Amino acid sequence: MDFFSKTMKLNNADTVPFLTYNSLEEIKFIKHGFSTRLGGVSKGIFTSMNLAFNRGDNPDDVVENYKRLCNSIGLDFDTLVASAQDHHTFVRNVTRENLGVGITKPRDMQSVDALITNEKNVTLVTYYADCTPLFFVDTKQKAIGLAHAGWRGTVGRIGQKVVEKMQSLYSTNPRDLICAVGPAISKCCYEVDKACADEFYNLTDLNASGFIFPAENEKYYIDLLECNSQVLQRAGVPRENITISDLCTKCNSELLWSHRATSGRRGTMCAVMSIVE
Ligand SMILES: [Zn+2]
Repeated sequence: MDFFSKTMKLNNADTVPFLTYNSLEEIKFIKHGFSTRLGGVSKGIFTSMNLAFNRGDNPDDVVENYKRLCNSIGLDFDTLVASAQDHHTFVRNVTRENLGVGITKPRDMQSVDALITNEKNVTLVTYYADCTPLFFVDTKQKAIGLAHAGWRGTVGRIGQKVVEKMQSLYSTNPRDLICAVGPAISKCCYEVDKACADEFYNLTDLNASGFIFPAENEKYYIDLLECNSQVLQRAGVPRENITISDLCTKCNSELLWSHRATSGRRGTMCAVMSIVE
């Protein structure tokens, strides 16, 4: 498979592949990764790397997929803590007391679309198949966050909510945040109707011409990644600290799960990140 990206690297392509951001790999106290649809043991429409327990896949296969992914990235399976995403904007602080939640233990909360921590060896896990992952690393206070931003979370400014919660809990200065946005369905492929586009036009403090592109028949193309980047900048993150992925999930649907490319018959990818030293 051809792989080309200026922002991300494809690791372990022949075994259990995962993506990393070049910008985040420079930060030595964290490990991070983004899974692909390859390298797992799931079957049928989930072939082969599916990380979702709630889409009808065999749970034993999903656990095995997590173990393979953790082994490939160099993370301890027992440190995982998962979100419970439903397109809202609640941000949860997690600690070592929460290890295993959503993986080997039942979910103990609803409506968790973002996770943050400042503890070592707590691996945040969030889920994607076209929606936009947001990565946050506070390089001064040594704290991290992951957020799931579909169109609802994006217009709900979940990125800003993560920054604010990191400010209040960890004394994070937004100027010290290194962020990454994506991979997600990109402006080439993300077509929406007028009602959805109007939600983006309502973000009147942002530069809408940068992320809303009117097309024919009252359709619009939305650049979710650029919109999230603008939300982060409004929250105080310098533009030069934000990397935007150049990999569209739908255009790369042999490598990545895309809800739209598969008409919803699909597995799910995850973003993972942990403070390791
Ligand atoms: Zn595309």
